Amino acid sequence: MSLGSPLIRYWYHPTADSLGDTVEAFLQEMAGPTLLHIPGKNRQRKRAICTLLHGNEPSGTRGIFRWLKQGVEPAVDILCFFGSVKTSLQEPLFFYRHLPDDKDLNRCFKAPFECDQGRLAKAILDILQDMQPEALIDIHNTSGMGPSFSVSMKQDAQHEALTSLFTERMLVTGLRLGALFEYSERNVPTVTIECGGAQDPRADDIAYEGILRYVSQTDVLTPQQADWELDVLKEPVRLELRTDATITYSEAEDVYADITLPPNVERHNFGRITTDVQLGWVKPESWDKLIVNTPAGKDVKDKILKLEGNRLHPAQPLKLFMITTNATIAKSDCLFYAVTDDGSHLK
Ligand SMILES: [Zn+2]
Repeated sequence: MSLGSPLIRYWYHPTADSLGDTVEAFLQEMAGPTLLHIPGKNRQRKRAICTLLHGNEPSGTRGIFRWLKQGVEPAVDILCFFGSVKTSLQEPLFFYRHLPDDKDLNRCFKAPFECDQGRLAKAILDILQDMQPEALIDIHNTSGMGPSFSVSMKQDAQHEALTSLFTERMLVTGLRLGALFEYSERNVPTVTIECGGAQDPRADDIAYEGILRYVSQTDVLTPQQADWELDVLKEPVRLELRTDATITYSEAEDVYADITLPPNVERHNFGRITTDVQLGWVKPESWDKLIVNTPAGKDVKDKILKLEGNRLHPAQPLKLFMITTNATIAKSDCLFYAVTDDGSHLK
């Protein structure tokens, strides 16, 4: 089998002993980007799992380690990709999303693939193209606390089936950010699974239990009688901050910051919030530093947010999710995602 990537170590069918005794030892054994290939009962089919694209999101790695230690033979061949192994091993373990000089690997799955992270993303895509898995899941943790959900480009039976292996919430988005789940465009059903907060032990169980279903079931692309109804959230928009914006997390307004949010703002994750809920504070002269655009680039900020004096409120009932209390992520990525509470599209 040609793998053709010097960037990714190929490790075929490791014995349980060779994995090391702990997740940390397992990562040290891998030492860098790695593809584990686990042969299944049916050698004609393959499924792929990717994880650790972000070095501070351990649930996928822990879940795969736990499964492999048990030695449960998968239904089909399983390809496990581990992305930011070196990043995760920087002390303290699982601390850095990406190293300060590196780009975010999960924003590099698109041309031009020029930086180191871009070349690694391209290598992963090339192997997927070569190996033709029937499905792909990419396992993450959210940066804050909150329930699990999936992210996908498409809402169809196959993407719903993959989601239901892990969680009851599904986010469908046409946003193109260079994330791996955009692999759906190549007609391989692909979902990102956000298992919940990296510090939350429930997130590890969600990853592990979902992985076990994904590797064990003969068919993972036909909706089963799930224990739950899917809650589908369509076409979220992102609240982004202009690069010169300053953000502080504090119980009271910080007059030196453009935007202040309370430290417990994450409690709004996936809840319904009405227009009388105050989200935080924004200096009126800093309003332009907040950006809310549709995937097509249309400014819909006034439909999502409003200022009353310097108090920030929803402009209509909303559901927010992936709210971050990490100022770096808020600035480099986004502060939160939002959909209308009634599911109507933002145009
Ligand atoms: Zn992530």
